[in-house]
Amino acid sequence: MKYSNESIEKSAEYLRQALPLMSRQAAALHPVSYAIWYEYVSGRNPALRASIDQLTRNGAVLDEAATTELFRKHVAELDEQLVKRVSDDFNKIMSDMNQSAEQASDHADRFGNALEQWSATQAQSPSAGDTGKLLLQTREMQQSIATMKESLEESRNEIERLRKEVSRAREDALIDSLSGLKNRRGFDKALAACLGAPDSGEQGPSLLIVDIDHFKHVNDRYGHLSGDRVIRIVAQILKENVKGRDTAARYGGEEFAILLPDTPLAGAAHLAEKIRATVEKLIIKRASSKEPLAKITVSLGVASYCAGESASDFIARADAALYAAKNQGRNRVNIAEANKDAGKEADKVAGSPAGA
Ligand code: GH3
Ligand code: MG
Ligand code: MG
Repeated sequence: MKYSNESIEKSAEYLRQALPLMSRQAAALHPVSYAIWYEYVSGRNPALRASIDQLTRNGAVLDEAATTELFRKHVAELDEQLVKRVSDDFNKIMSDMNQSAEQASDHADRFGNALEQWSATQAQSPSAGDTGKLLLQTREMQQSIATMKESLEESRNEIERLRKEVSRAREDALIDSLSGLKNRRGFDKALAACLGAPDSGEQGPSLLIVDIDHFKHVNDRYGHLSGDRVIRIVAQILKENVKGRDTAARYGGEEFAILLPDTPLAGAAHLAEKIRATVEKLIIKRASSKEPLAKITVSLGVASYCAGESASDFIARADAALYAAKNQGRNRVNIAEANKDAGKEADKVAGSPAGA
């Protein structure tokens, strides 16, 4: 679903068709509604079109929730570059239009000045009345061009605002709201980018999967709010322990992942042990009564990337190491075996660094 190939004329036409449809809905005009209506009029997304037709039959209008849901279901999943492309196209059209308006205005100015000079020399001639009329029309034309320029400028500012909103929304979509860390989607993107980099495999990447031990008990004993508080505090520790190109993410409920693009296995194991020991020493208090919670511990699986292995195999190895740590009694770090199938020399680190 690429929009960059669309000609400016075509984009402008879609835009012209989309705007009135958008403005008829209950949802506000924003990049999300713009994207679905642009997609609708371009006719490239039959499933979206059918859904919209269904939802708006008998004159019904789309509210915010329906608009967002349509976007999520039919647009965002297909191509997350889409909104950016659409708003870039939108910007380009506006910039082209602005340029034309400027040229037209320039011509009108010059024409007006020439007419004025000419009318001064003709002031006493019998056709002075006609010239005056012409001059007036030219002035009106200049005025309407100036107004058009102003409204184009306003549109451009609006588009710029929307563009920023879109990029903020896209970043938000990669962040977990409870912990402030990247969410699973953000992590998967970071991992894909890391494995796609040409230098991957020399000094890493390594991966840590961190899981809070017996977290269900924390919820059962102290309630969900205290559980959330524990998640936030553990997340904060992870954040404090990564730097530079590292990525800490909340991978699932009480499970986290840390990607270390430039760290070999021994360094990753060292960091894992540091995190384990830090969490073990925490004293977390209940938000309500300030009563300290029972000791919180984490188990960690550590893996170093083996050249040629897939992202999912890489994660699965770290995950298997984590579950081995759980089986060995929790509150410990366990190192994954190298993936022999991936063809990399086994670079096992001797022993497991941490005990309970
Ligand atoms: P283990 O040591 O084997 O990891 O045991 P566990 O209890 O931590 O693991 P289990 O997978 O059985 O339970 C995880 C619990 O985490 C269950 C779920 O209710 C809770 N959980 C998941 N997400 C959240 C969240 O956002 N907030 C809170 N408070 N609890 C959550
Ligand atoms: Mg757990
Ligand atoms: Mg878990």
